[in-house]
Amino acid sequence: MAYNSTLYVVATPIGNLEEMTPRAIRILSEVEIIACEDTRQTLKLCKHFGISKPLISCHEHNEYYVVNKIIEYLQEGKDIALVSDAGYPGISDPGEKVIAKCIERSFNVVVISGPCAFVNALVGSGLDTSHFLFYGFLPSKKGERTKELTKLAKNENTLIFYEAPHRILETLQDMKKELHNRKICIARELTKKFEEYLRGTIEEIIERITANPLKGEIVIIVEGSKKEDVETLTDLEIIDKVNNLIEKGMSASEAIRHVSLTFKVKKNDVYRLFHQ
Ligand code: SAM
Repeated sequence: MAYNSTLYVVATPIGNLEEMTPRAIRILSEVEIIACEDTRQTLKLCKHFGISKPLISCHEHNEYYVVNKIIEYLQEGKDIALVSDAGYPGISDPGEKVIAKCIERSFNVVVISGPCAFVNALVGSGLDTSHFLFYGFLPSKKGERTKELTKLAKNENTLIFYEAPHRILETLQDMKKELHNRKICIARELTKKFEEYLRGTIEEIIERITANPLKGEIVIIVEGSKKEDVETLTDLEIIDKVNNLIEKGMSASEAIRHVSLTFKVKKNDVYRLFHQ
């Protein structure tokens, strides 16, 4: 059965309210219900723009349940808007399940463009924007985070992470260990009064942050793995890399694994060169 009602997925400001688009304001004023991550946050936004609509909460813990409510409203012919606290619903925010279900049930889904933290950060980073991988938040547990970073070590795309300020130093230290000393950019407080981009190598940024701890919202942009590193390494350079890592405290087998992963040389070859 085809329905005329629509789920509008509306992006909202990531800090600067001047970035609320006229289209987003019109859609929020025209729909019958707004489903939002946090009703207090959305109420503030609506008040600012003179919008008065019933709000229903849709967050990560009730998204499965709320989806049925949203489907009911759409079946009654009511248009619904879906917003998160900031940026796009579904981008490190709830929304994905509601959107998938509405598509499955053949409702119209229309996305209303707006700000997204990682797009600003990537474009302002000065790093390669042609191919990128948006990862979102890394796991908070060290072991799981290291595992994910090891998997990403060979990836040649620019890597994008969201991170909380209290974990940034720990995450950068893990990145230095797993990805080595690449170029990165920390984009902080985007679109807000204290917006700032810190650009440099991982080591340089760790030094700056250790001296001046960061506050506010943060995106980390990391240069992708370089193909040429792999092609230009001589046997002696491979041995040097392993020795350097051992000097920094790694065991021989750990260092061999790292060099093999980072420079895409077979582990057996690194092992053979090192032990020859
Ligand atoms: N849905 C949002 C989007 O489209 O970008 C992301 C929401 S996620 C829960 C929140 C994270 O996004 C923050 O921890 C931070 O990493 C990043 N973020 C959001 N707003 C930001 C801003 N103004 N400046 C820098 N990073 C921001």
